[in-house]
Order: sequence, then structure tokens, then C-alpha cells
Amino acid sequence: MKIGILGGGLAGLSLGYFLNRDGSNFLILEKTEETGGLLKSVEVDGFTFDVGGSHIIFSKDKKILNFMVSLLGTNVLKNRRNTKIFYKGHYVKYPFENGLADLPKEDNFECLYYFVQNLIEKKMGKLSSPRNMKEWFYYTFGKGIAEKYLIPYNEKIWKFPLENMSTAWVERIPQPPVDDIIKSSLGIPTEGYTHQLYFYYPKFGGIQSLARSLEAPITDRIVTNFKVKKIKKEDSKWIVSNGKKEFEFDKLISTLPLQELIQALRDVPKEILEAVDNLKYNSLITVGIGIDKPRINDFSWVYIPDKEILTHRVSFPSNYSPYVVPQGKSSVLAEITYREGDEISKMKDKEIIERTVEDLDKLKIINKKDVILAMAYKFKYAYVIYDTDYMYNLETIFRYLTWIGIDSLGRFGRWDYINMDSVIKSAMEYVDSMK
Ligand SMILES: Cc1cc2nc3c(=O)[nH]c(=O)nc-3n(C[C@H](O)[C@H](O)[C@H](O)COP(=O)(O)OP(=O)(O)OC[C@H]3O[C@@H](n4cnc5c(N)ncnc54)[C@H](O)[C@@H]3O)c2cc1C
Repeated sequence: MKIGILGGGLAGLSLGYFLNRDGSNFLILEKTEETGGLLKSVEVDGFTFDVGGSHIIFSKDKKILNFMVSLLGTNVLKNRRNTKIFYKGHYVKYPFENGLADLPKEDNFECLYYFVQNLIEKKMGKLSSPRNMKEWFYYTFGKGIAEKYLIPYNEKIWKFPLENMSTAWVERIPQPPVDDIIKSSLGIPTEGYTHQLYFYYPKFGGIQSLARSLEAPITDRIVTNFKVKKIKKEDSKWIVSNGKKEFEFDKLISTLPLQELIQALRDVPKEILEAVDNLKYNSLITVGIGIDKPRINDFSWVYIPDKEILTHRVSFPSNYSPYVVPQGKSSVLAEITYREGDEISKMKDKEIIERTVEDLDKLKIINKKDVILAMAYKFKYAYVIYDTDYMYNLETIFRYLTWIGIDSLGRFGRWDYINMDSVIKSAMEYVDSMK
């Protein structure tokens, strides 16, 4: 049986890696000149930037974490997270609810006061269950934490009304114990999101090294520069074409964004096309900045809820690994989300770069005089948006894909806000289930 894997991002590569271990016959078809998808790292003048956004290796699942780390062999470093939220000129420990003592006193008081008031109202049965993301923030954290950080930050990254977003994703956010909030307000150190407190990162080559390790044993089974444009079924065979060349398969596993997959199929019912059209997602621009100074701070990454500033998050790759910059230099990576047609999507790369450098200089995160390199990179598919209709749309699409017999995996293939560990795990489980 010959298996066609559509898309050579992490999901496609993981499928290939595990199928290869089982001795299966497969071929990966990838649109761009390289595999890795969002795990792309670009090197310019000795600076390596993860242009699909800052990627760190962590997982609650020890088996998958060990697998990812083992893939890197000796090319790996372990770091302790030192992450902040930049709030009214203060660096507040991340997650916000664990850093209340870093806030101006009035803000700290309001966060604690409303958290406690909320708790009492919840116990008295006075609060009704949240119906959307915005209500969930109020319900879980109270007005203080919700209005000072969670709502502005999430409005900034999602660029979508939080009232129209489902609670499906936020429900995965770990909820802090009450004593942690009180300790946090008093300045007694606590840690949140502990599964991510320590993280791994490749010593050399950026996050794409992880993709390269998966790719190494299967390079002869990958076709790059092959954009899947047409998929048809003839008798029991799938024919996949890029308009010039065709491949024939007995089975297809797609890791393409659902939009790309459905577009390539023929005679798709109107109802399915509409469901795909209604799926919402955000695109991403990253701005990589090279700094002519060693270590400018000790931070891993910093969240910026302030809407006057273009970027919502900056990371410091040279703090993950000193080997991703030339000696004596350091680096910054800014992330900006946008949606086709919005103001940011209309800005030229040059404008985005200049604005980002100015913004970061204004916040004193960098000094613009030290900038020796700045570059921008775009990814169309970065974040799936869980709007309140997404479940209905997905069920409609997957019913159809099951009916025609195509399996779909990965972040945009399952339309699931998943990290690398879940992508690898689902590929591993999928291949196991084929045995
Ligand atoms: C900003 C950001 C930060 C992140 N940080 C982390 C992190 O710190 N830790 C973590 O674990 N995870 C992180 N993630 C998540 C991680 O990037 C994803 O889980 C993972 O990369 C998804 O892999 P994928 O293969 O499903 O999708 P993709 O990487 O999108 O791969 C899809 C592939 O399909 C190809 N393709 C598309 N259309 C076609 C076509 N028509 N024909 C052929 N090929 C096609 C694409 O070129 C691409 O290679 C982050 C994601 C983002 C956006």
C-alpha cells in the first residue's frame, strides 16, 4: 500500500518518521522548498530566527518530551523560564496571576479584591456559567485580572471579539489555587504553568533542527516544491497533482490546512465549501532583530498587552541559546498577528519592521542605535480561532472527509490549537492505530 502524506510540516514529518519505523511505503508532498512548516528557522549574518514564532520544547507528557529531546541528541540546552508581562512600565512575572506583587499597589489590590469577591459570589451561586471567552475570564479570575491583562492581551492577539469566541481553548488554561493568588499578591513567590517552567531548545540551528532530525531518515521520501492543487479518485487510487506532475496513492493522510485540502478536491458540496469559508484563523508576522550588544536582559519572552504597541510578544532567542547569534551579539523576535484585509495586513514589511523597532525602543526593551539587522517573515496559517460556530463547521467538514476517506491531522488539519507535543503524539497514535 502506498501512502500519500500531504504537507511536510511537523505533522507530516512525524507521520513519515513513524511510518518509516514500521517499514511502510509513503511519500510526503510539501509546497515550499523545505520541510518544517511553522518550525522554520532562518539564518542571516550569523543570527538564527524562528520565523514561525518563538518555539520552545516542553510537554506534560514525559514520553513525548523525552522523544523530542532525544531527537536532538547533543544539540540541546535546558532553560528555566523567566517570562514577564510588560504592564504600565512594570515587568510583571508570568503568568500574570502569579506576579500580582509586581503591579502598582492599587492594581494589585483590585486584582486580589475582585478575585476574592468573585469567589464568594461563585460559592453563593450568584454567577452563571460563562458562555464565551470574555465571560470565562471574568468568571475565573474576576474583573481586576480580566480587565487589566487577560482581556486586552487576548483582544490584541486574537483580533476577534472575545464575546464571539468559544471557551474551548481557555478551559485548558490551568486555574490557580486561591492560596497562590493571595501569596502572589503579597509577594510570596509562586509558579504557574509549571509544565513549562523548564524548557528545551536546540543549541544550534533554531527550532528547525527538530524538524531536520525527523526528516533525516526519510529524505528520499519527501518531494518539496510540490503544491497540492488537485486531488481526485480514480477507481480505488488517489491521484494528487500540482498541475504539472502526478502521484498515485492507495491512501491519503492530509496535514494541510483544511482550506487547502478542500480547495484541491473536486465536486465538493456547497455546504462543505461554506463551512470551510466560515473557519477563522490568524496569520503571523515575525520581526527578527539583531542587536550589537551581548545579553540585553535575562528574559525568555515578554507579553505586551498595550494596544499602542504593534507586537503582542517579544522573545529573546539568544537567551535560549547563545549559539544562535554571533559572539558578543544578542537577538529579539517580535510576533504580530493579523487577518487578511485588516490594517496590519496592508502594511509593508518595511513599515512593520520600522514600527516594531521604534515601539521596542520606546519601551526601552532595545536601544534602536544597537540594531544591526532586522527582517520580517509571514505565515498565512498561525492560529486557529475558536469562534462560537467553529464546532458546527468542523463537524460538517470532518463528516465529509470521513465519507470520502481522507484522514486529516495536524494543527490546521484538525483545526486544533495544539503544540508540537500534541502534533507528534497524534501522529504516533495514528500510525499505531494503522497496525
Ligand atoms: C507563534 C507560534 C508559536 C508557537 N510556539 C510553540 C512552542 O513554543 N512550543 C510548541 O510545542 N508549539 C508551538 N507552536 C505550535 C507549533 O508550531 C505547531 O503545533 C506545529 O508546527 C504544527 O505543525 P503542522 O504540521 O500541523 O502544521 P504546519 O507547520 O502549518 O505544516 C503544514 C505544512 O503543509 C504545507 N502545505 C500547506 N499547503 C500545502 C499544499 N497545498 N500542498 C503541499 N503542502 C502544503 C505547509 O507548507 C507546511 O509545511 C507555536 C505556533 C505558533 C504559530
